[in-house]
Amino acid sequence: MPKKGNVAWIEFYGTAKQSYRFGKIPEISSRDPRGPDGEVIIGAQFIGSFRTVLCRCRVVVEQVMACCTLDGQVAAKQDEDMAGCTGQYDAIIIGSGFGGLYALYHLRDKMGLSVRAFDGAGGVGGTWWYNRYPGARVDAPSSPFYAYTFSKELVDEWEWTETQTSQASVRAYLEHFAARFDLVKDIQFGTWVTDARYDEAAQRWKIKTDNDETASAQFLICAVGALFVPNMPDYPGINDFVGECYHTGRWPHEKVSFKGKRVGVIGTGSSGIQSIPEIAKEAEHVTVFQRTPQYSLPARNRPLTKAELARFREDWDDLRTSMRRRGGWPFKTNRRRASDYTPEERHAVYEELWEQGGIHLAINSFVGVMADTELNEEVGGFVRGKIREIVQDRETADKLMPDYHFGTKRLILDNGYFETYNRENVTLVDLREDPIEAFTPSSVRTKNGEHPIDILVLATGFDAVSGSMLKLNPKGRAGVSLEQKWRERFENYLGVTIAGFPNLFMIHGPGAPGVFFTMPLGGELTTAWIGDCIRHLREQNLGSVEATEDAEASWDREISEIADRTLYPRTNSWYMGANIPGKPRQFLGHLRGSQYFDRLLEVAEAGYEGLVFEPVCDETAST
Ligand SMILES: Cc1cc2nc3c(=O)[nH]c(=O)nc-3n(C[C@H](O)[C@H](O)[C@H](O)COP(=O)(O)OP(=O)(O)OC[C@H]3O[C@@H](n4cnc5c(N)ncnc54)[C@H](O)[C@@H]3O)c2cc1C
Repeated sequence: MPKKGNVAWIEFYGTAKQSYRFGKIPEISSRDPRGPDGEVIIGAQFIGSFRTVLCRCRVVVEQVMACCTLDGQVAAKQDEDMAGCTGQYDAIIIGSGFGGLYALYHLRDKMGLSVRAFDGAGGVGGTWWYNRYPGARVDAPSSPFYAYTFSKELVDEWEWTETQTSQASVRAYLEHFAARFDLVKDIQFGTWVTDARYDEAAQRWKIKTDNDETASAQFLICAVGALFVPNMPDYPGINDFVGECYHTGRWPHEKVSFKGKRVGVIGTGSSGIQSIPEIAKEAEHVTVFQRTPQYSLPARNRPLTKAELARFREDWDDLRTSMRRRGGWPFKTNRRRASDYTPEERHAVYEELWEQGGIHLAINSFVGVMADTELNEEVGGFVRGKIREIVQDRETADKLMPDYHFGTKRLILDNGYFETYNRENVTLVDLREDPIEAFTPSSVRTKNGEHPIDILVLATGFDAVSGSMLKLNPKGRAGVSLEQKWRERFENYLGVTIAGFPNLFMIHGPGAPGVFFTMPLGGELTTAWIGDCIRHLREQNLGSVEATEDAEASWDREISEIADRTLYPRTNSWYMGANIPGKPRQFLGHLRGSQYFDRLLEVAEAGYEGLVFEPVCDETAST
């Protein structure tokens, strides 16, 4: 937590990306409003002239720090030598979501390293700590597969109750995991790592936190999240709105009441589509400001039966192998060729998969849906037909028609999203034909009219995949920052290592399968590889490891070539960095997860091809 008297600058992602001075943080008293997890809610009385910036989001103190770039005096202080670090470890892990928690378990318990983890959040969960908006659930594949796979005991003892797991259940599961493996004692919560620097002579990373603590470790594991940095929209005058305002990725811990309120929701990506039906059930009126019409498939969430769970447990080893071999998906998929079927037969297949729900229609119809334009258009047309069938008002249905290649944006599963437009209390505004022109203290003004609102919900997604690493902005060899290195492209090797940043490892970094593979399993496999690399380094008495620039260049080509064989790069999506102005356009993930993990093993077997190891410079480095 920031201390009384700290001075910081807040870079607010609003208009013109200004920085706002955050003034002195006042003493926090027991009377100050607190969320259910004990966090302090910043109230207007705290923040003087920053009222509109901070109150808009009712940001908890720790979350404000997530948006902070320390500047001025504070930055100057960070340049000081970090000698006299309070903690010395083999590895420091940043983040305690699925990735960071597993890394802590693996490096500490399986490898015997001394490890300390830091997280700015007040508890475990990462994504599931922050995304508490109504209706927040996993996408797919879900229970019990969106979970750790390595421990059969863990699989046997955790009772998943729904096919599409809710945020609360995932978070409860992660809390159980952290307690069961006694991880919490080695995690420092409520602590942002504000600086990380590589000391070339010591071959160690030195970090600094917002509590002014310092620590050092030979290895820095960045499990900082692929969907962590919220994308705040840059609409002119947005700060003029004075009502309550929440970003779905920074949802408050206390319940938000929509009862009797007029709610505006900007954005219809996954978070918008999950939350809109829930908000509409409670609010007086919901106005949805749609930037892009979306394909969404029915999740058909339902209770998971005991018999199903028992069967999954019985077959666990096979299912786990299957996930590893099938891009994170546990079941066999059809290898049908579309050309072997008549249009009517294909339509019948789409109907069956639509009824089945979940991601089946996306992955299980015919081979080549994500590469063959005609086939893709056929599936897209089928979904558009379904939207027309569901939405009763013709004009609204027209506005909801997606026009990008089916599946090339993050796959969305909904529980009654399109049906919500049949409610009397829901209005859709298509921002492509009726753009936002201004905000008033109590409304959103678009070209064609004024929409009074009491609460604004920003379902505007994330600066995905690269955003959290850039927020951390580690400084590698010669003090070169990641921001400098990644100005044009997110250069890295295997999505895990970066030339010029020795002994730094990313979990789910750009160039890794990340969101294109079931991430808990992806994190386990990546961490195992990182662990082996560290073991190799130590067994050979080496001091550091990093990617070569040549390896980075060929990795970059490989990622792009795989993506270019599909329709993904043809769509302006966050997979391409297209949602953030000025972000380099580059496909951010490896689309062939199973082959990717084979490749990691091949790299290791070939003596860590593409990586260079340095001998130990200073005997203290590896102690
Ligand atoms: C609504 C939603 C649904 C999703 N559904 C699925 C799904 O079905 N399947 C799937 O595979 N994935 C899904 N995801 C993706 C999800 O993000 C990952 O599955 C997974 O939770 C990521 O875990 P992580 O540990 O890598 O990162 P995160 O969970 O994002 O954790 C990162 C942590 O790092 C901390 N951190 C970052 N920077 C710092 C710093 N400088 N100092 C201190 N702490 C820091 C943050 O506070 C955070 O706690 C979903 C995401 C969302 C938002």
